[in-house]
Amino acid sequence: MTGPQPRACVTQIPAYVAGKPPAPRPDMTTYKLSSNENPFGPLPGVLEAAARAAEQMNRYPDMGSTALYAALSDKLGVATDELALATGSVALIYQLVQAFCEPGDEVVYAWRSFEAYPIGVTAAGARSVQVPVTADGRHDLDAMAAAVTERTRIVLVCTPNNPTGPAVSQRELDDFLAKVPSHVLVVVDEAYVEFVRMSDPVDGVATVRAHDNVVATRTFSKAYGLAGFRVGYAVGPAPLTGALRAVSLPFGVSGVAQAAALASLAAEAQLLERVDSLVAERDRVVRGLAEAGVVVPEAQGNFIWLATGDRTAELAAAADDLGIVVRPFAGDGARVSIGEVEANDRTIELGRTFSFGS
Ligand SMILES: *Cc1c(COP(=O)(O)O)cnc(C)c1O
Repeated sequence: MTGPQPRACVTQIPAYVAGKPPAPRPDMTTYKLSSNENPFGPLPGVLEAAARAAEQMNRYPDMGSTALYAALSDKLGVATDELALATGSVALIYQLVQAFCEPGDEVVYAWRSFEAYPIGVTAAGARSVQVPVTADGRHDLDAMAAAVTERTRIVLVCTPNNPTGPAVSQRELDDFLAKVPSHVLVVVDEAYVEFVRMSDPVDGVATVRAHDNVVATRTFSKAYGLAGFRVGYAVGPAPLTGALRAVSLPFGVSGVAQAAALASLAAEAQLLERVDSLVAERDRVVRGLAEAGVVVPEAQGNFIWLATGDRTAELAAAADDLGIVVRPFAGDGARVSIGEVEANDRTIELGRTFSFGS
């Protein structure tokens, strides 16, 4: 014990397992269905805006991200100080815990859910309280409300839930919020909000308006197809978003990312058409799997969940053989993103050919 020692919590941070890219194969096109990425490339205006912004790479970006804050404020009907931009909503999760938790404070969230949650919580020295999802992959909001203690500072509600798929309804969220003490921050992670097609969907912005203790987080990574550029944002009461901005890295969101996000908002109509086609593909995959006898939890994001338990590694290998890479969670199940039409055909093929029963 001679060299510098990191804080004890640092050694306990679980590793983030990124979705694998597919190995190229001479006999077929292979597809990456392991990171919930958007299979569509940039709309033309977006690439050009990003390229123009890249010409300024010798300059620091606009630290205030002024134009992007203004555009989001317009789109969402909130004041700019009710927003906090960050380098993806993963960064927002880190910042939330850093800003609101003392060491040992508790953060309640469903499990299995987004794998960045335990990482962000542990990194800040806070404690995870994981509440198991139901057998059909839903948040157990009653159990989550019951898990709130004196030490709870944050509850994370991931809707739709990554990786299992179901979303909570506004009614369920409202009932839950009525049970949570007002000093507990409730974060509604709406990374997949654009893909939700259900009755009574959550409206994160309206929910934020109705409560002083709710923040909604969204991202340009999924529906908007900008995962590589790292832009996400939180919407919430100004005192809460102000705390998030206070702990953010200066100049985090690059000029290229700001420009691409702005251009994507300007091309929103076409982007949302692409989202509609992904939703249609998702529903086709769910139907195709059901016809093969494989029932998956309600899929409200751009992915489906296969609860393969201790056969998950086997399923991932079978997917590899078909030229698609899925995201296995050892001993639990596999998440399969909705991608190109041919890739989705292979997901259905996987459902037909893998024997889930034994
Ligand atoms: C992908 C995802 C995010 C967003 O990640 P970025 O950091 O914005 O790329 C946030 N929450 C959940 C649940 C996700 O699946």
